[in-house]
Amino acid sequence: MNAIFQVPKSGNEPVLAYRPGSPERAELQETLKTFRAREVEIPLLIGGKEVRTGNTGECRIPHDHNHRIGVYHKAGPEEVRLAIAEAAKAWKDWSRLPWEERAAICLRAAELISKKKRSIINAGTMLCQSKTVHQSEIDAVCELADFLRLNTGFMQAMYQMQPENFAATWNRMEYRPLEGFVFAVSPFNFTSIGGNLCMAPALMGNTVLWKPSSTAVYSNWLVMEVFREAGLPDGVINFIPGDSSSLAPTVLSDPALAGVHFTGSSQAFNSIWKTVAGSMDRYRTYPRLVGETGGKDFVVAHPSADLQGLSTCLIRGAFEYQGQKCSATSRAYIPESLWPELRESMAESLSKIKTGPVEDFSNFVGAVIDRASFDNIRSYIQYAQQCESCTVVMGGGCDDSSGYFVEPTVVLTTDPHCKLMEEEIFGPVLTVYVYKDSEYREVLELCDSTSPYALTGGVFAADRKAVKLALEVLTHSAGNFYINDKTTGATVGHQPFGGARASGTNDKAGSIYNLLRWVSIRTIKECFNTPGDYRYPFLG
Ligand code: NAD
Repeated sequence: MNAIFQVPKSGNEPVLAYRPGSPERAELQETLKTFRAREVEIPLLIGGKEVRTGNTGECRIPHDHNHRIGVYHKAGPEEVRLAIAEAAKAWKDWSRLPWEERAAICLRAAELISKKKRSIINAGTMLCQSKTVHQSEIDAVCELADFLRLNTGFMQAMYQMQPENFAATWNRMEYRPLEGFVFAVSPFNFTSIGGNLCMAPALMGNTVLWKPSSTAVYSNWLVMEVFREAGLPDGVINFIPGDSSSLAPTVLSDPALAGVHFTGSSQAFNSIWKTVAGSMDRYRTYPRLVGETGGKDFVVAHPSADLQGLSTCLIRGAFEYQGQKCSATSRAYIPESLWPELRESMAESLSKIKTGPVEDFSNFVGAVIDRASFDNIRSYIQYAQQCESCTVVMGGGCDDSSGYFVEPTVVLTTDPHCKLMEEEIFGPVLTVYVYKDSEYREVLELCDSTSPYALTGGVFAADRKAVKLALEVLTHSAGNFYINDKTTGATVGHQPFGGARASGTNDKAGSIYNLLRWVSIRTIKECFNTPGDYRYPFLG
C-alpha cells in the first residue's frame, strides 16, 4: 500500500525451435503420448465448482478423427443462470481488488504457460486443433503469454491517463469495471484468443462467462486450469462450454449483461448483435459489443515485387495452419509479368510440403478442424473444378479417411468477382487473379471493392510510388496492412490486431484500445476553493 507500483517490463515470449534432439522437443513428444493414451472428462466451472450436466460432447483429434481424447459437459440455460449469479457474487470483491493483485494473477499465469505448463498447453492445442508444433507454440504459448503480460502494462498506462489539473481543483479519472458481467465467446482456431477474450475483461476488474468453441474445449480447459493455478478467485471466470443455440439467448437477454467479447464468424456476431438489439429495454447498462470477425485477406503484387519473397509469403500466409487463420491470405492479385515464374516457384515449394498428422514433426500442414469445415472447403474446391472461370492449378486433393486433410490448393480465376475471390472459405485455398501490368491502380480499386471484409491485406513492391498508391487506395480495405510481408502473424505489442467493415469492430486485441472497452470511466472533480457567492463579476 501507499506506493505507485510499476508492472514488470516484459518483451514478447521467445519462440522455441523444437529442433531434433532439443529438450523441449523430447518433453513435448512425451506429453503428446500421454495425452493420446488417456481420455479426460471436462466439467463446467461455475463459481469455482466443477459442474457435470451429463449432456456431453466429444473431443476428437482432427488428424485422427476416430480417436477420442475427451468428453466435455455442456451448459444449458440452468447453468447459465447459475453462472450469472456466481459472476455477480464474485464481482463484489473482484471489482474492488487492487489492480496490482489482478495483474499478479495474469503475470503468474504467463509464467506457468511459458515454463511448467508449456508442453501441456502445446500438446493439448496440437491434438485438439491439429496445429503443428510451430503453429501451436506461436499461438497457445507465446501469444497467450504475451496477452497476459503486456495487457498488465497497458492497464497501468491506462490508469496513468489523467486529466489536466490546476491549483484550485483536482480532476481525477477512475477506470471502473463495467457494472454487470461480460460474455466471452471464442473461436476454435487460436487457444490464445480463448484465454484473452475472458482474461482481458477480468484483468480490468470484470467477471466473465466464457463460452469456448465446441471444437476447442479440450485446449481451452487447460488454459482455464492454468488460471485457477495462478490464483484466479472463484466465480471471476466461469467456464461454460455448450451449444450456442441453447446458451446464448439466456446469456444475452440477462439484465446484467454489460459486454460481449467475441471472436468468430461475422454471421455469429451479427446474430449476437441482433439479439442484444432486441433486448435493449432489459439491460441495466448499454452492453459493450466487441467482435473480431471474418476476413478475405488479400495480397496485391506490383510488377516491381521481389518474386522469391512474394512466393514464400503466399505459401506461409495462405497455408500455415491449413489457412484457418482469420488473417490467412486467400486472394492474390498478380501482374502477368510475374505469374509464370511465381507459379513455378510456388509449385516447387508445394511439391515439397507435407500434409499429415502434426505429431509427425516433418508435416507442414495438418488437418482442418472438423467434418463441417472439411465439407465446406471441399465444396469450394469442387465448385472451382466445375466453374468455367476457374482452374485448380495446384493441390485440390481432399481425404477424410483418417483425418480431415485438404491439400494446399491454388485456384486461378479469370473472374475477379468469382465467389472464391469474395467469400471466406477458412481453409487452405488461395485464389489468384492475374492482371495486366499497366492496370495496377485499377486492380487496387478492384481489390478494395471486391469483398465485404477488411481484416488483413498486403502489397508487394520495390517501387515506393506503388507502395504509396496501395496505402492510399486500400486505406479502408484492411485493419492490419503489410508491406512486403505475409498477412498473418501479428504479435501482441507490435501489430495491434483487428479489422473493420464485415471484419469486426476493430477494437485491436492486445492493446490499450481493447482494454478501454472493459472499463467505464468516472471523472471526479474536487474543488479546494469552493466559491461562497453566486454572483459573477459581470452582474455588477
Ligand atoms: P464461429 O462463428 O463458428 O464460432 C465462434 C464462437 O461463436 C464459438 O464459440 C461458437 O460456438 C459461437 N457461436 C456461433 N454462433 C453463435 C451465436 N449465434 N450466438 C452466440 N455464439 C455463437 O467461428 P469459428 O469457426 O470458431 O472460427 C472461425 C471464424 O472466426 C472465422 O470467420 C474467422 O475469420 C474468425 N476469426 C476472426 C478473428 C479476428 O481477430 N478477426 C480471429 C480468429 C477467428
